[in-house]
Amino acid sequence: MIKAFYNANIITGENKEVINSGKGYILFNNDNGKIIDIGENFEEKASSLVYDETFNLKGNWILPGLINGHVHIMRNGSAHPDALIKNESMEMITLHALKNAKEHLDIGVTSVRDLGSTGLTTLAVRDAVKTGLFDAPSISSCGTPLIMTGGHFRTGKEVDGEDEVRKGTRQLLKQGVDVVKLFATGGIYSEGEEPGSPQLTKEEIQVAVEEAHKKNIPVACHAQGLTGIYNCLHAGVDTIEHAIYADEKALELFVTQGTFMVPTMVAMVRIAEGKEYGIPEYAVEKAKVVVETHFSMLEKAVEYGVKIATGTDAGSPCNPPEDLFKELEIMKQAGMSELDVIEASTSVAAEAINFKDRGVLRKGAYADMLVVNSNPLDDIKHLKEQNMVIKNGEIIKNN
Ligand SMILES: [Zn+2]
Repeated sequence: MIKAFYNANIITGENKEVINSGKGYILFNNDNGKIIDIGENFEEKASSLVYDETFNLKGNWILPGLINGHVHIMRNGSAHPDALIKNESMEMITLHALKNAKEHLDIGVTSVRDLGSTGLTTLAVRDAVKTGLFDAPSISSCGTPLIMTGGHFRTGKEVDGEDEVRKGTRQLLKQGVDVVKLFATGGIYSEGEEPGSPQLTKEEIQVAVEEAHKKNIPVACHAQGLTGIYNCLHAGVDTIEHAIYADEKALELFVTQGTFMVPTMVAMVRIAEGKEYGIPEYAVEKAKVVVETHFSMLEKAVEYGVKIATGTDAGSPCNPPEDLFKELEIMKQAGMSELDVIEASTSVAAEAINFKDRGVLRKGAYADMLVVNSNPLDDIKHLKEQNMVIKNGEIIKNN
């Protein structure tokens, strides 16, 4: 069935294209999930267009469904997300992951990239969603990340030395991951390590990149300290996660190499604020140390023109899916315009997570859309006032 939205303002999500006459229209088909036509002045053209149902949007705003480029759907973003799934079976963890994934769609996120789970749990959820068994965002999944023995992501697969990394990467590719995730440094939420300390070496990261790229699979790397960030940049990874201590030279390398940064600002902010919710003292203290540095790094990254893709680390302590809107406000505060923030959360994020024909409103792209009351280019907070969420041409939410 072909639906026509008309009398709308439209933000296409790419190339700063906006139709703000209030006369924009989009035709889409829920059978193949694609956009058929997009343009202006529906009423004049209506006689030459084919459609089954019309919706007068009365000046509402349409934009692509949002993309969260860094989530962990097995965790629910409560104060103690790991406690909930500790000692649970893989089957139960899969069900938790499905429940949490659906919450992203409820707030207008139509695609996510999961950067760390356990076993095959998120790959199963990804496939179930793709098959149409459940309404949830489209998922790009790394499956199980690769870590050094004793490394930051405790449920990751431990690999040491180039041979083990090669084998580990090949096994992930065989499992059908969409992205390979590595850990180049320590982090905030693991006791007894520093965010600045390197973990997998440059040579190990390079091997993973070599193997993944043979199959056109991108590599995402967690890197907070400077040595680890350089190791990732020199090894040629595709996206660097967090990047807290990136210095000016590193930011220049991001730009010249076209490496994406997924800063996940809100994750550190929430842990730093989390003492009253019982987040462990060691994590709170570490987060407090990095918050300011992280923010000034982001301001510089914006100034340098680094490709920034939105991601929140959703699922981490006190970081539920809706904290995406807090992340967008932080990105704005760091110097991005509202339109930059929207593109970072749509077309740029889609490119970073390697999703073709998503994150943009154009003929032939998937009809993943959000309809909001007021102009989000006036205030990014308006993205929360959602009238409709559409995924693959199906209206998921209609207030
Ligand atoms: Zn993460």
